Amino acid sequence: MSRTNPPVPRVVSAEFTAGAARAEQLPPPKTIEVAFAGRSNVGKSSLMNALLERKKLVRTSSTPGCTRQISLFEVTTRLGSRLTLADLPGYGYAKRSHSERREWADLIQTYLLKRPALAALVALVDVRRGLQNEDEQLLELVESVPKKQRPPVEIVLVATKLDKLSGSERKVAMNQLKKQCSRPILGFSTELPETHELLWRQLLARLDIDQRPADPAAPPAPVPSEAGA
Ligand code: GDP
Repeated sequence: MSRTNPPVPRVVSAEFTAGAARAEQLPPPKTIEVAFAGRSNVGKSSLMNALLERKKLVRTSSTPGCTRQISLFEVTTRLGSRLTLADLPGYGYAKRSHSERREWADLIQTYLLKRPALAALVALVDVRRGLQNEDEQLLELVESVPKKQRPPVEIVLVATKLDKLSGSERKVAMNQLKKQCSRPILGFSTELPETHELLWRQLLARLDIDQRPADPAAPPAPVPSEAGA
């Protein structure tokens, strides 16, 4: 008889710590931060909830009364690392007024270019839609500023809602996206748990944290003074 072990949770704790509609209202960072951005409805809240291993910690944009703000979620991983996920307000609403767009741009721009703890930006695109103008503008916003004048942000590009395409369609869409973006892109779906694990691994490797074996039964790594003795 074969027995499958349930997946070992990666996240020990996850909590909402702050929300801010203006960048200057954000509290000083306590850990390194990873920002998540994308068009409204791209699946950002769903992806963040999946990474946080919580059902509804991150509110979806369709939640009534959901304000346009940056929300911070502090996470402790099983291996004891602490990091903060930042949910950036979605873009691409046709009905936004000029002043609302301006406020959004100011908030995002200040956060992405001035937040010293920002280590990575996870940019999300719907696998069926590909990279659109606003997605390109977001990437350009970060990349057009010389590295010395902004935090050294790792950009991780993710195609969401992979399950909406069949296997062969997926392959074609992902190849097209790779060409369009001239950079690697990871596929993700709330319905495909293996993609959650792949995204976690990619993120942690890029951030160079939690790079020890993820086996909970493994002995703890020696502290540096012991290791050198
Ligand atoms: P947000 O506006 O970017 O935060 O998007 P949401 O996370 O609220 O998702 C928008 C809609 O897409 C919701 O109806 C989700 O249930 C759905 N959705 C999100 N991710 C996936 C996915 O990976 N697969 C499928 N089939 N639906 C998804």
